[in-house]
Amino acid sequence: MSADRGLNELTAHELSELLGAREVSAQEVLAAVCQRVDEVEDEIHAYVLQTRDVAEAQAKDIDERRARGEDLPPLAGVPLALKDIYCTKSIETTCCSKILKGFVPPYDADVIERCRRNGLVFVGKTNMDEFAMGSSTENSAFGVTRNPWDLDRVPGGSSGGSAASVAGSEAVVGMGTDTGGSIRQPASFCGVVGLKPTYGRVSRYGVIAFASSLDQVGPITKDVRDCALMMNVLAGHDPRDSTSIDAPRPDYTKALGLDLKGLRIGLVKEFMEYQGRGIDAEVAAAIGAALERFCELGAECDEVSLPHLDYSIPVYYIIAPAEASSNLARYDGVQYGHRTPDDDGDIIEMYSRTRDEGFGAEVKRRIMLGTYALSAGYYDAYYLKASQVRTLIRQDFDRAFERFDVLVGATSPTVAFRLGEKTDDPLAMYLSDVCTIPVNMGGLPGMSIPCGFSADGLPIGLQLVGKALGEETLLRSAHAFEQSTDYHRRQARPISAGDGRRSAVARG
Ligand code: GLN
Repeated sequence: MSADRGLNELTAHELSELLGAREVSAQEVLAAVCQRVDEVEDEIHAYVLQTRDVAEAQAKDIDERRARGEDLPPLAGVPLALKDIYCTKSIETTCCSKILKGFVPPYDADVIERCRRNGLVFVGKTNMDEFAMGSSTENSAFGVTRNPWDLDRVPGGSSGGSAASVAGSEAVVGMGTDTGGSIRQPASFCGVVGLKPTYGRVSRYGVIAFASSLDQVGPITKDVRDCALMMNVLAGHDPRDSTSIDAPRPDYTKALGLDLKGLRIGLVKEFMEYQGRGIDAEVAAAIGAALERFCELGAECDEVSLPHLDYSIPVYYIIAPAEASSNLARYDGVQYGHRTPDDDGDIIEMYSRTRDEGFGAEVKRRIMLGTYALSAGYYDAYYLKASQVRTLIRQDFDRAFERFDVLVGATSPTVAFRLGEKTDDPLAMYLSDVCTIPVNMGGLPGMSIPCGFSADGLPIGLQLVGKALGEETLLRSAHAFEQSTDYHRRQARPISAGDGRRSAVARG
């Protein structure tokens, strides 16, 4: 199965078989990944920190345990890229903000503990928009990441580094967080699979908070089976997160390979147009073709309208900044990371200088928006009103799920855009998440899988949305679709030609 592909280009489930059969060692797999990182990282810049020493020790440990005959979990020895938003014990964690530069957490996030227990190998911490605020990874304090399919384009965001690392075969699996689309939109732009689980399915303990009522952790992978395997690692109850759902974790791989007979799939009108404006024609055509494919696979397909979805962006840009302004109040130069001292020793002056120097423009914009919306006298008009409209959005989903098992549409209205194209226009950037944000409003699981390519060879993503705790139905639908296509097999091949930035080539 690996005749024409390097070890770093295989999926996690393919590697799992080879590792289990002792045909390759975890150290060999890691070496292949590191070699690719050395070749392409100068151009892609998926990582803000490579943790090679940690990875080598982990891979060696896995190989030794396997040699002793220990029964290891399926993903033991598989190289993983971690968004720089999870607290990792003794490994610097910055959320790609200057204000956290130098912060070394004394503990692991719940999801990191789970990855360690499962023997995943930590290649490094990946680039992201500062505090996960953005859709292109251009808001990082530590430089941009380039899309492996076209180095002049963004990888999406905010989990752009993780998506680019998987698409560029600089890691085998990746992890992101999704507050309004930050797993699904970069997965779509980079031609990989991304899943945002149901709110509460994966613990947020030790994950740096952006908007606490919306944030979720999830996997970014090369195919749907890898996604299911990663969900087996990540999901589960955690008493340290008060919003964690106390429900048994299924074996998500059991959902794979089932047919779609009788499954009711609804194409969401509002995922195909926003306030009367259609999404890109190429994206719309690919989604239309995907729906036809679902019908051929035995699903019953129809259209559905969720009228309140048009309010998602305005509602999100009240709720998310309001919660962020509260969560980010803790960065004051006293407890964490960066401090800009005041010459006269004035503490208020120290706070404000620290925050002025430590935060980037987009983060400051959100803190101001959020502080305003939560001010005395404005709470009712903004946050409360937005919360009420959020309920209407959720009720639209409830109604749609009386008729359908899965809702589908575009993940993003466009393919990956050019670096710099939207940096001067925050509102245009915000629209990039018009199809993903409603799903976070409802706390529902949402997934993006590759469903085609534009004429320029850029990946197009199909979004699938499920009922609360309906991850298995999503994985089942996504897997059936994926197995009837070859989009997930194409590889981005970033070229380092030494003559500036050149486009990636797709291989069928
Ligand atoms: N792009 C959206 C924002 O800027 C969503 C980000 C996210 O999901 N973390 O807030």
